[in-house]
Amino acid sequence: MTMTLSRQTVIPITELEQSAFCRSDGNLRTQTLEEEFKAGVRWQKIPTRYMKLSPEEIDAGIAEAREALGEQVILLGHHYQREDVIKYADIRGDSYLLSKQAAEVKEARAIVFCGVHFMAETADILSSDDQSVILPNMAAGCSMADMANLEEVEDCWDDMQSVLEGQGTVVPITYMNSTAAIKSLCGENGGLVCTSSNADRAFEWAWRHGDKVLFLPDQHLGRNTAKKMGISEDDMVVWNPFKPMGSLSPEQVRRSKVILWQGHCSVHTRFTTKQIEDARLDNPDVNIIVHPECVKEVVESADYVGSTEYIQNMINAAPAGTAWGVGTEINMVSRLAKENPDKEVFCLDPVVCPCATMYRIHPAYVLWVLEGLVAGLMINRIEVPAETKANARLALDRMLEISR
Ligand code: SF4
Repeated sequence: MTMTLSRQTVIPITELEQSAFCRSDGNLRTQTLEEEFKAGVRWQKIPTRYMKLSPEEIDAGIAEAREALGEQVILLGHHYQREDVIKYADIRGDSYLLSKQAAEVKEARAIVFCGVHFMAETADILSSDDQSVILPNMAAGCSMADMANLEEVEDCWDDMQSVLEGQGTVVPITYMNSTAAIKSLCGENGGLVCTSSNADRAFEWAWRHGDKVLFLPDQHLGRNTAKKMGISEDDMVVWNPFKPMGSLSPEQVRRSKVILWQGHCSVHTRFTTKQIEDARLDNPDVNIIVHPECVKEVVESADYVGSTEYIQNMINAAPAGTAWGVGTEINMVSRLAKENPDKEVFCLDPVVCPCATMYRIHPAYVLWVLEGLVAGLMINRIEVPAETKANARLALDRMLEISR
């Protein structure tokens, strides 16, 4: 019988920690966990025997554990995972694709999610009751998701209702990159979840059900999507959770069509229009492709904008000899460059900055949770409470409905 060994809560990530793994030498090679602990960020504690294991020892251990577990376990890997982890993934994709896969994989009893905390929560919500979701390192959160905590969003929601006094309906939309509690709040209040691939359809859905949108937690995806749909910036306001009433006047809230939560992705806001200009100076024929979590000016200067799946598909399908300057996470860009040797693929940011939270899934943690399963122990199981799950599921189902 499998027993759950640890159910620790996720450790919030700070902006300072986000740059802990930035390097100027371009080297993303995995070191022993002992070496990587020196980066000075918070890692989840792990038995000491995993600290000094070499890549070869980890490889052998993972192969042995997987052999013993067979089809009982499946490994999902997000595109932003490091090469030394993604190589173990049975399925790789962005958060949307992986959440759908988690719902469809029925054979595996355990889903080991090599990604970040909100993704594992989503997998737990969508998977069946007899499946368990495991996050190898509980310190793998997401700084953007942490920017919208439930208490602050509830305050915002109450403030808006009292200002509107029943005149006008607000539909909450939350980006997939948010906690289960925020997804649940949206489900309970007539809203839905979206991803970077279907945010425009979520807006369309929202306009059919209300007069205003509260978009959480990424102001940039919200702004870029609303602009794409023809909404003027004069009709958008930004809600600052650290100020009373979001630092907005009642009149500003009443007049607005879109209320953007003041959150952002620390990885994607590193990209600048100057980097795009430099890339075009070097090669006027370069194609610039960026993620919609980038700031508006970067999105407007780019040739193509889309989700990680979109970026991957565009570059894989591009003719040989083309050049691509990419505005997304470095592990994904490096992989695309390696898999497309007939094209020039490079990251727009000259400093190598992996997503620090994704990077915390070190292969030693994967080995730890797999060996736990072999021993009948469920380490780092992610379990969303039943009530939160029901409302979050409602919001996710509305998203899956508009994506068909
Ligand atoms: S890339 Fe940004 S949004 Fe994605 S997990 Fe990392 S911090 Fe969160």
